[in-house]
Amino acid sequence: MRLSRYFLPVLKETPAEAQIASHRLMLRAGMIRQQAAGIYSWLPLGYKVLKKIETIVHEEQQRAGHIPLLMPTLQSADLWRESGRYDDYGEEMLRITDRHGRDMLYGPTNEEMITDIFRSYVKSYKDLPLTLYHIQWKFRDEIRPRFGVMRGREFYMKDGYNFDLTKEDALHAYNRHLVSYLRTYERMGLQAIPMRADGGPIGGDYTHEFLVLAETGESEVFYDSEITDLKFGSREIDYDSVEQCQAVLEEFTSRYARTDETHDEAVFAEVPEERRRSARGIEVGQIFYFGTKYSEAMGANVQGPDGKPVPVHMGSHGIGVSRLLGAIIEASHDDKGIIWPEGVTPFHVGIVNLKQGDEEADAACESLYKSFEALGLDPLYDDRNERAGGKFATMDLIGLPWRITVGPRGLKNGVVELTCRRTGESEELSPVDAVEKVAMIYAGLKG
Ligand code: ATP
Ligand code: MG
Repeated sequence: MRLSRYFLPVLKETPAEAQIASHRLMLRAGMIRQQAAGIYSWLPLGYKVLKKIETIVHEEQQRAGHIPLLMPTLQSADLWRESGRYDDYGEEMLRITDRHGRDMLYGPTNEEMITDIFRSYVKSYKDLPLTLYHIQWKFRDEIRPRFGVMRGREFYMKDGYNFDLTKEDALHAYNRHLVSYLRTYERMGLQAIPMRADGGPIGGDYTHEFLVLAETGESEVFYDSEITDLKFGSREIDYDSVEQCQAVLEEFTSRYARTDETHDEAVFAEVPEERRRSARGIEVGQIFYFGTKYSEAMGANVQGPDGKPVPVHMGSHGIGVSRLLGAIIEASHDDKGIIWPEGVTPFHVGIVNLKQGDEEADAACESLYKSFEALGLDPLYDDRNERAGGKFATMDLIGLPWRITVGPRGLKNGVVELTCRRTGESEELSPVDAVEKVAMIYAGLKG
């Protein structure tokens, strides 16, 4: 993309309404625009990152064997009356009446609808196990929408639902989700720690929240510092293997790590004092096993091996796709702006032309641009007639991990400058070597 033709409405001033860094930076970098409290337009740069995050979530879900579908945002109240949640859900549910006087709602989640789909088609245990998921907009009429996309009213969420014959099978689905989530967040450059959480109205002993440590997080968390040394890394997992998934779950959940709802001072005291930490965290996902709660209420039975109908065991699993943009920025920024991890960056590399209009500089930039495109990479070329300082400030603000600076002086010596946004370190390389180095970095990303 050539910046002169792009739509990147960066702001010079710091928006007064934004209280935390990620919200400020998303507004300043022209990523989002608030349309009503907790409701945002995704401007081109923000939309690009949202789609990158969404793609990673899809890839990792499907790697784990989960099947995508798409349910609507609007739902009929009838299904929610069957489960009893139409009355229980309270004021966070946005209720709508259509022209015929029928009660509708903008879905805050989809347990009822997926259970309805399941019971309509699946009749035999032979069709299990089954995990269906979608990535769709949700609406929760949060009392205090704030922090930009972190606590919106309309937000984008991946929600998945597993259907299994037995509790044992459903617990494997639970473990499998935990493993796939670890991989998902790491691909986004995030450390999200699974912490024992509270089931809330869904209930059940089996639930973990995934938290990104950040001072601005809304959750208070307590953990054994050893947990932050754990990395999932590039290990290959057979998601069908009960033993392998179980082993990862045990590795990542055996140390103390809890949200304030499940925190227990007496148990925490058993952790050596120098390793005890309390901190703030951003919840970026949650997994549940809740047994037969919905299947019994809504008659989602299958015929078991003995021919008798049995209610299926279920769990649900959510990732806050739009919240993740905020969480990633909270975890990765500096005074100058955002620092995107390579896995989610909106453009792979920025090209800054120090002297637009200079024949050699223009030609060198064009050539770099075409080389990156030929390699399947996505460059952003700042080809505007602007001061170098302004161009650098924009690149730093929008946070592309790599920048190539091209100017007549360097070109005389046959070099351009490659700069790493995270470390600020620069090196002079021939244009060919600069392209190759950037290409190698992206080729090394797991995906
Ligand atoms: P919270 O405790 O933050 O209100 P929740 O536990 O009610 O969230 P879940 O039902 O577990 O949320 O939803 C799955 C994920 O969706 C959460 O882990 C979070 O990342 C995201 N999410 C929930 N509410 C919002 C919101 N208002 N805005 C943006 N993302 C949200
Ligand atoms: Mg939650």
